[in-house]
Amino acid sequence: MMVLARLMVGLALAAAGPLTALAQTPALRPITLIVPFAAGGPTDVIGRIVADSMSRTLGVAVIVENVAGNSGVTGVSRAARAAPDGATIVVGNMGTHAAAVSLQANLPYDPNRDFAPVGLIASTPMLLLASPKVPARDLGQFIAHVKANANRLNFGTAGVGATSHLACAMFNALIGVEVTHIPYRGTAPVLSALISGEIDYGCDQTAGALPQVLAGTVKGMAIATRTRSPAAPNLPTSVEGGLPDFQATAWNALFAPRGTPPAVMARLTAALHTALADPTVSARLMELGADLPLPADREPAALTALVRAEIDKWGGIIREAGIAATP
Ligand code: ASP
Repeated sequence: MMVLARLMVGLALAAAGPLTALAQTPALRPITLIVPFAAGGPTDVIGRIVADSMSRTLGVAVIVENVAGNSGVTGVSRAARAAPDGATIVVGNMGTHAAAVSLQANLPYDPNRDFAPVGLIASTPMLLLASPKVPARDLGQFIAHVKANANRLNFGTAGVGATSHLACAMFNALIGVEVTHIPYRGTAPVLSALISGEIDYGCDQTAGALPQVLAGTVKGMAIATRTRSPAAPNLPTSVEGGLPDFQATAWNALFAPRGTPPAVMARLTAALHTALADPTVSARLMELGADLPLPADREPAALTALVRAEIDKWGGIIREAGIAATP
């Protein structure tokens, strides 16, 4: 009797198998993960950390492709136009999917309308960085130096509308200076330019710059948060440095082209959740100063809400602070 029952259950499962498999586990092709900035920057580093884990969970290769240029717009636009079949996803951030709406003229994509949200990966505070050649030991001295030499200095970012541009433009507006802006293809080249002394200062997410700050090859002038980061307890906040309104936190998230089938989206989101639940992944992200989202904030709907809220929030800050849409 038992054997017969098992046999019947087995037959029923076998009959339902192909249909269930089609409905629940669409076959995935290797995935191209577009990183819209240069290799070695925070978007790249964060993207690669989760790509590796997602690849193992999904059983397909997740290949990172750096499509840098035009403040991330080139890579994000390519993802927006890609076939919505799960073979292309992109790492967006607070710049590409929020601030750029206010800072980039004629943005060729709509952060919400053109994308399906996979999920938020992590938030990372912004850092104000100086070249070792800058003779300042703290934020007060740095502000005095920039004010006194504004017409001779330059600052580097990943381009107009990037998180690094937003943070540095906010800093400049707060201290009332106009300084020459040098856009790069990501903040990894900004760090190299700071180290070599090609530029005087810049901004970056902790996930990009923290290792250089901790190694002392770049000067960390302030972290743009109210409390110090456990990943860099010796780095003073902007509040401690006397510039409390200098507050900027970026985030990175995964998006697929709008129209990607829901069953594929569900698998991508589940694989991202598995990555974030992996202690090795979370430890690596936290070591880079990143905060992982709470479980409710990991859901795709929460990312849609975040993008909407951040477009409004940064739009308001950009207008009020008089942050320019042009370099
Ligand atoms: N996240 C950086 C920015 O928006 C760029 C990068 O990741 O390289 O400025």
